[in-house]
Formats: sequence, structure tokens, C-alpha cells
Amino acid sequence: ADRIVVKVGTSTLIRQNSKINLDVIKKLAHALSILKKEGKDVVLVSSGAIGVGMGVLGIDKRPIKISKQQAVAAVGQAELMQIYNEAFHEYGMSVAQILITRDIIDYPESHTNVMNSFQELLSMDNAIPIVNENDSVTVSELDHHTKFGDNDQLSAIVTNLVDADLLIMLSDIDGFYNANPLKVPDAKLVSTIDSISPTIIAAAGGHGTKFGTGGMTTKLKAAERILKHNQQMVLTNGKNPDIIFNILSGDPVGTLFS
Ligand code: ADP
Repeated sequence: ADRIVVKVGTSTLIRQNSKINLDVIKKLAHALSILKKEGKDVVLVSSGAIGVGMGVLGIDKRPIKISKQQAVAAVGQAELMQIYNEAFHEYGMSVAQILITRDIIDYPESHTNVMNSFQELLSMDNAIPIVNENDSVTVSELDHHTKFGDNDQLSAIVTNLVDADLLIMLSDIDGFYNANPLKVPDAKLVSTIDSISPTIIAAAGGHGTKFGTGGMTTKLKAAERILKHNQQMVLTNGKNPDIIFNILSGDPVGTLFS
């Protein structure tokens, strides 16, 4: 794979105690910088703005009010980008912030503009685009006209948009299981999936963690989009981002959607 999109979930970035997992960020910066130096094109889609914002502001419950969530996300986004920037600077890389909304799907002009920005950034040797949804512009979780709803689907849309070979989705679980492992302890990891059948959808239980938003359902929707475009996606555990190297060297890791 020469062009890769990596999505990292809140559950990987934020520890249970609301503190950011700096170790993961540093390792992610290291791995992606190496790939970039090897000549690969890399895009990072990062969740975590609300979780980081909660930590910064000392809030321990995710706000219920949407406008409050947007405010917390705005605080967290700035902090998160600062942390990424420092981590990537260690390897001579700078980060480029791309905040997107559904406009890129609904309006051809926005679609073209963001695509041009990506092409330009990907042609640079020292820049890593980091993408998130523009939470202060998108209206509500339920308003599908403006909001993607989650970074899982957003990362699939970005993978389509930049015509990447592979989407690597880093979560807090080793892959897709034939049942939610939180509820069914002897659930088995499924190593490859070539279509999103009703049985597979039924195996995706509710939300995982206190900070995570999508759970497995939105990851399957992302996978569906990837498969429709004849692209590939690997879902695996992000606790050690060096796993990206294993994936790219062809080791069987997590669940491959292909
Ligand atoms: P992220 O923050 O990485 O996006 P989420 O917490 O939203 O992660 O989703 C991952 C969680 O989905 C897992 O920790 C697990 O509890 C839950 N889950 C539900 N069904 C499944 C399944 N069939 N296989 C794996 N995980 C599942």
C-alpha cells in the first residue's frame, strides 16, 4: 500500500482516567513519520477532541447539551493538534489540520476544494494531514444533513476521496468478533470479511467505552463504504501503533475487510 489512511479512535487516545495517552501519540507519530520518509502518502484521521477537551476543562462526564459538546471539542481540538505537532516535530514533520463537514459530499465545489488541499499536502515531504469533523459547524448528532456522526465513516469517506489503498482503523479491540466480546467472553475474532452481511451487523453490539462514540456499528458502515469502492480496511488494536508496520508487511493482523 502506497497511500494509507489511519484512523485512531477515542478509546485508543484517551485513558479511562480522562488523561491523554501520550505514549500512543508518540508511537503513532514515529510510525507515520517513518512511512512518510519511505515515500508513502499518509493521512491521519483522529478522534479525541471531546475527550481531550474534557481533560483540559476538568469535566468528567461527556456533556449532554450539543452546544456544550461543541465547545468542549473546540478546546480539545486545539490541545490535541498541539500535542500531535510536538510529537511529529520529533521526526521533522509538521501537522496540517483539516476539519471537514458533509459539505464535501453535498457540494461538488467543496469536494473539489478539499481534494485539491489533500493532493497538495500529500505531495509535501514534511506534512501530515490530520483530519477531524468540524464539530462547531456541524449541527447535531441526529442531523444527518450536516454531520457524518462519527469519524469511522469520515475516515472511509477520506479514504475514498484521496483514493488510498488502505484504511487502518485503530481501536481498543483486536478486531471484529462474531459477538461483542464485552458480553460474550468466548467470542471469536473474524480474520477476513468480504461483505457486510446481516449476521455481521447483528454481531456488532452497542457502544464500547465511555468516551468512544461509534462502537462497532459505525465501523461496519465504514467497511461497507470501503468494500463498495474496492478498497481495503484493517481493523485492529491501536494500543501499540507499531502494529501498522506488521499490517503493511502483510502479517495477518486484526480483521481485514477486502
Ligand atoms: P473507538 O473509540 O476506537 O472508535 P468504540 O469504543 O467506539 O471504539 O468501539 C469499539 C468497541 O466496540 C469495542 O471495544 C467493543 O466493546 C465494541 N464491540 C461491539 N461489538 C463488537 C464486535 N462484534 N467485535 C468487536 N468489538 C465490538
